[in-house]
Amino acid sequence: MNLILLGAPGAGKGTQAEVICSTLNIPAISTGNILREAIKNGTALGMEAKTYMDGGKLVPDEIVINILKERLSADDCQNGFILDGFPRTVPQAEALDKMGVVIDKVVDLEVADEKIMQRLSGRRVCESCGASYHLDYKPSKVEGVCDKCGGKTVQRKDDHPDTIKERLQVYHDQTEPLKDYYHRTGKLVVVEGQEEVADTTALTLKALEA
Ligand code: AMP
Repeated sequence: MNLILLGAPGAGKGTQAEVICSTLNIPAISTGNILREAIKNGTALGMEAKTYMDGGKLVPDEIVINILKERLSADDCQNGFILDGFPRTVPQAEALDKMGVVIDKVVDLEVADEKIMQRLSGRRVCESCGASYHLDYKPSKVEGVCDKCGGKTVQRKDDHPDTIKERLQVYHDQTEPLKDYYHRTGKLVVVEGQEEVADTTALTLKALEA
């Protein structure tokens, strides 16, 4: 099954992608994670992407489209995949179509902007393994230390309040039109994000069965 998870930054796409990934045994592909890895490794691609990402802007279409093309050609994608954070613009969706990628379902995770602000400003991630925490909703056992690997948990640069506002604006301007794009193909299913992650997961899995 080829799936897309749509939704604002902080809507919980990454968490849902992980669950679907283990339930359906298909890889979850996050362009954000691929870009962050490139930054960590100090590659030319990473250096270029960093300026956009730190400012809450989108990395240019051409760059992310090439990244995705390469990732989708890997063996583990041949039986399906979940895209988390791609496409984010109409030209990116058109590029997927042009690649001949057939999408089975697009799950749109809906969460109000105020909730997103709360979620992202309290988010902390492990520098080493990428595990995600929240100061109020899901604190690590020892503040600043990852439960899973003992690495340091930090606030992502783009999770600072001003940058979150910018990312939400970018989402409404450039990514939200994709709802229409996929609604027209009959592939869009809307899931209302719930307070409890498990409740959102139940709705997401149900939406995939329908
Ligand atoms: P994410 O982890 O999905 O929230 O992505 C973090 C940042 O990476 C975004 O704010 C963008 O700057 C960049 N990014 C990730 N995916 C894309 C994409 N499909 N198109 C453009 N920029 C992206």
